[in-house]
Amino acid sequence: MTENHQLNPQQVLAHPTFFKLICGASFTDLPTIGPLVEAYLPAGISCIDIAPHPDVLTCVIKVFEAYQQVNPSAQLPALMVSLDLDGDPHFRKVAVKPEACIACGLCLPKCPTDALALDATLPEQLAVDLPKCYGCGRCVPVCPTDAFTWIPQTQLPEPLQAILSNPWVNAVELHTQALDFDSLRKCFEDCRQDFTGKLISLCFRPNEARSFKVWVDYLQAFEALVASVDGYPLLQIDGKPMSGSEEALASQPAIEGALQVLQHYKPQYPVTISGGINLNTPALVVTSTDAGFQQSTIWGVGVGTIARKKVAGLASESAMREATAFVESFFNTN
Ligand code: SF4
Ligand code: SF4
Repeated sequence: MTENHQLNPQQVLAHPTFFKLICGASFTDLPTIGPLVEAYLPAGISCIDIAPHPDVLTCVIKVFEAYQQVNPSAQLPALMVSLDLDGDPHFRKVAVKPEACIACGLCLPKCPTDALALDATLPEQLAVDLPKCYGCGRCVPVCPTDAFTWIPQTQLPEPLQAILSNPWVNAVELHTQALDFDSLRKCFEDCRQDFTGKLISLCFRPNEARSFKVWVDYLQAFEALVASVDGYPLLQIDGKPMSGSEEALASQPAIEGALQVLQHYKPQYPVTISGGINLNTPALVVTSTDAGFQQSTIWGVGVGTIARKKVAGLASESAMREATAFVESFFNTN
């Protein structure tokens, strides 16, 4: 490795704004991930978030190293690995029940990554390109025969330890759906050594089904555990996960969730938003907080599906230009 100019957690946190490229917690399609990361590196982003998969890590590191060789003084983003705490829907892929699929093809156009194709040679007739499936769920409700099932993407301890101890990995994101305290504590027990000194983000959605006290208790438990490993806490409030929506109000749930946390709890560390983030988000943040990201209580964004869409199919240089313009559009509202 040449001299490493990767942003460390303190440098990420010292920046007035935050932009995270989300490759996808279950997305493992290397031919897409490599060019995607390559496109966003020149945009000067804060962080890249990847699946806990050794091949994805190797792929991203190769792109980092190649970029650094051509641009020896360029600053590389923090590298974050997403982890499932308690059955979060970001960690799943679909499978098809052979006896149920009637090969109607209705699900095909719903898939944002072209992971589905009809193949008459297969018993189920529908082929799922598993690396391309990131569990968004858009194919499931259109199926007239209920042919889809879910395959959980469980992270295995041994490869996970190798991933987290890689020197490029200086950030993790913990995803919780159930706010299960035992899973949170166990994760820190299992990964104590590899979490030390890292940026540690908690991704969740404030859930009205749970009392205010439960998620405040959970946040306090999270903060104590991060402090116990000398880590740097961060919150990511998820609105409409994996929606890829370009609708004007798609990011409203994430913004409202973040404001709810900020108003009622006031964490002493940054709050970011994800899920439904698109080019309408900066204006919505201004409307909701009377400030753009630089002055707002909402520090920045994590963007997945729309960021991928922006550069899909473009030649390398055009993809880099598009990615840089896309990132800048989030922070020029002040
Ligand atoms: S629509 Fe979503 S869940 Fe279905 S195959 Fe495509 S990526 Fe996977
Ligand atoms: S919608 Fe259901 S039945 Fe139709 S091709 Fe897809 S999985 Fe098969």
